[in-house]
Amino acid sequence: MIVTIDGPAGSGKSTAARKLAAAMQIPYLDTGAMYRAIALKALDKGVPLDKPDQLVAMAESTDISLDCGPTYVRVVMDRRDVSEDIRSMRVSEHTSQIAKIPGLRRVLVEKQRQIGRRLGSLVTEGRDQGSIVFPDADVKFLVDAEDTRRAERRYHEMLADGEEVRLEDVLANIRLRDNNDQAQWAPLLASGEAVRIDTTDMTIAQVVARMQEEIRRRQPAGKKTP
Ligand code: C5P
Repeated sequence: MIVTIDGPAGSGKSTAARKLAAAMQIPYLDTGAMYRAIALKALDKGVPLDKPDQLVAMAESTDISLDCGPTYVRVVMDRRDVSEDIRSMRVSEHTSQIAKIPGLRRVLVEKQRQIGRRLGSLVTEGRDQGSIVFPDADVKFLVDAEDTRRAERRYHEMLADGEEVRLEDVLANIRLRDNNDQAQWAPLLASGEAVRIDTTDMTIAQVVARMQEEIRRRQPAGKKTP
């Protein structure tokens, strides 16, 4: 079974995806981590972010491997563990800029489909998982929340990770990314195929329960999901 969860930054989709995958006992894929890894490499190597050809060539020759567990995402890029570095504000600020490059998306979409083919069943989260990467997914979710609430969530996560940030900067970053990223999930919204969940006033446990209920409802009679 393939379950896609798309939505903006701070909507709760990552945590929900991890918990849902753990409950269903199937793997979880964090596709944002792949875009972040490419942005980190470009920043570290000084590849200009406004040079699509160079960025696409760089992405094609980059080896990214992901190990997504119930409480962690380990990302190894070109044999270097970048799991922490990809979460910095510097990387968050630049990722959505490079994620707009069609050629670069094609490279990462292909990597994601390969992972999907290899795993067979998975919960995958990002912006375009239900629309572009896995259009035949069994269940598609679109999670969203008010931007101020999303900024608060991200702010507390970053503080807990020891980053020194200001709430207003996190909110500005969320709004900038919303602007850049909207095009990725707009088709899913327009098609009406995805189940929309507004998480503004929901706990993660409620979001996961809502998702499980939807999955159960769609399952053919006789099949049970944990
Ligand atoms: O999900 P996360 O916040 O880690 O994603 C980082 C950035 O990667 C997003 O702001 C978006 O620009 C990009 N992204 C994307 N498509 C995906 C996943 C992430 O464009 N499937």
